[in-house]
Amino acid sequence: MRIVLVGPPGAGKGTQAAFLAKNLSIPHISTGDLFRANISQNTELGRRAKAYMDAGDLVPDEVTIDMAKDRMEQPDAANGFLLDGFPRNVSQAEALDVMLQAEGMKLDAVLDLEVEEDEVVKRLAGRRTCRNDGSHVFHVVYAPPKTEGVCDVCGGELYVREDQSEDAVRNRLDVYHTQTEPIIDYYKAQGLLVTIPALGEVQEITKRAMDALNK
Ligand code: AMP
Repeated sequence: MRIVLVGPPGAGKGTQAAFLAKNLSIPHISTGDLFRANISQNTELGRRAKAYMDAGDLVPDEVTIDMAKDRMEQPDAANGFLLDGFPRNVSQAEALDVMLQAEGMKLDAVLDLEVEEDEVVKRLAGRRTCRNDGSHVFHVVYAPPKTEGVCDVCGGELYVREDQSEDAVRNRLDVYHTQTEPIIDYYKAQGLLVTIPALGEVQEITKRAMDALNK
């Protein structure tokens, strides 16, 4: 299966993508994760992407599309993949269509995780990340650490990631509305869009998505 996951920042795309990819035995391809890996390895690509990411802006298409294409051409993605965070604007969606058509392939579905704006802001603004290990993530309301400001796992200091500051969050939402939301109509016109209400328990949302895919 070839699936695209869309939804505003804070909709839980990364979490759902990981579960869905596992259930469907296809690789989870997150352009955000690919950029972050490049940043931590201090590659040329990572250095180019960082300022855009910190500000909550989109990394330019010419960089992003090539990176996504390279990843989709890896052998593990030959029989399908779940895209998380790509495409993020109509020109990326068109580039993806061209890429797939050239191989005689097409998308099976586009899942749109739907969450209200207020909820998204609450989720994003409360995230706290460990300075020692960025995969240790907490939330002041939904997953508070035992001691405020201290990582439960390793005792590291918790901080607000650069791209999760209030200004960056506001900008990411703005970018989502102006640049990413148009792809929802683009995929609706192709008959691929499935809307998944994304409020509630993580497992329940995964089930909704799996049920929709099995239809
Ligand atoms: P994410 O982890 O998906 O929220 O992505 C984090 C950041 O990486 C975004 O705010 C963008 O700066 C950048 N990014 C990820 N995917 C894309 C994309 N498809 N196009 C442009 N920028 C992207």
